[in-house]
Amino acid sequence: MSTHDSLRAFVTALPKAELHLHLEGSIQPELALRLAARHGVRLPGDEAGVAGVREAYRCRDFSAFIAIYLALSRCLQTPADLCDVLDALAGRLAHGGVVHAEITFTPMTHHRRGVPLEAMIEGLLAGRAAAAARGVSIAFVFDVVRSLPDQADGTLAFARSVAARTRAAVAGLGLAGPEHERYPLTPMLPVFEQARADGFAVLPHAGEFVGASNVRAAIDELGARRIGHGVRAVEDPALVAELAARGIPLEVCPSSNVALGVYRSIAEHPLPRLREAGVEVVLATDDPALFGVELVDEYLRCAAAFGWGEAELAALARASLAHAVLDDATRARLGGAPDTPL
Ligand SMILES: [Zn+2]
Repeated sequence: MSTHDSLRAFVTALPKAELHLHLEGSIQPELALRLAARHGVRLPGDEAGVAGVREAYRCRDFSAFIAIYLALSRCLQTPADLCDVLDALAGRLAHGGVVHAEITFTPMTHHRRGVPLEAMIEGLLAGRAAAAARGVSIAFVFDVVRSLPDQADGTLAFARSVAARTRAAVAGLGLAGPEHERYPLTPMLPVFEQARADGFAVLPHAGEFVGASNVRAAIDELGARRIGHGVRAVEDPALVAELAARGIPLEVCPSSNVALGVYRSIAEHPLPRLREAGVEVVLATDDPALFGVELVDEYLRCAAAFGWGEAELAALARASLAHAVLDDATRARLGGAPDTPL
């Protein structure tokens, strides 16, 4: 066995949590084509079959990325669609040693297209049960789109409906969409305050395409428990020190950042600088199908770029479980040890 193969086996065997993963971005080309055929949806590249869709997935500019993302979203119309996606995803997660996943889903974009809320709830919970049968625990992060603040109330109501059926199925409320000053947080603040009062974690994207100020706002105004991406915090040393002191973790997705042009290469990624400054980080894939990466690959790419060995990789795996939105009994059952120093 080569060193690379043995490190892959080592990382695969570590119990891990995947904490930043979008349901729509997890759909592999083969499944995407089956879902598209089910509903008569056209996918970019579908005239050339699986290979064409796979090639379209490789588009590396942001508008192509959004076009594919929206086409995949249109394939999700029935409970069976959602269940099939989650079941397939859970199979891949289990294969990579992921025992718990917090999966982002944007209910209101589907609802706006006419998908009934009840159908989504049914599909998500059925998919969660299918994942459990594969040994993967799932909790959802329901996210609000920054540019659509009117839908924040509906998103929280959706989270409450799911929680009323199965409380453990809801990790929290997220925030995604364009990071632009045109879309201030102000109109959404009461919704996030209510979410916190309900016991939902606040898990926003911030500091991906825009600098440290959005990370600051996510902490100060939203009360974020973790930050999705957050890597641009590195541009503000005082903020880095505060993230470290307060133990607010960043969900870092290096392959996504490179694919979408936030950094030119993993070697240039600020992840090691953030870790050295004492910031808690967890590795994640963001959109594994679109970026052609599984969580184990993300660990191995960082190991290769930064010279990390087994000790660093095991610490990252422990961190992923430590920062999951889980009660301590569930965390311990899944292989995490909350009392173990990271
Ligand atoms: Zn994301």
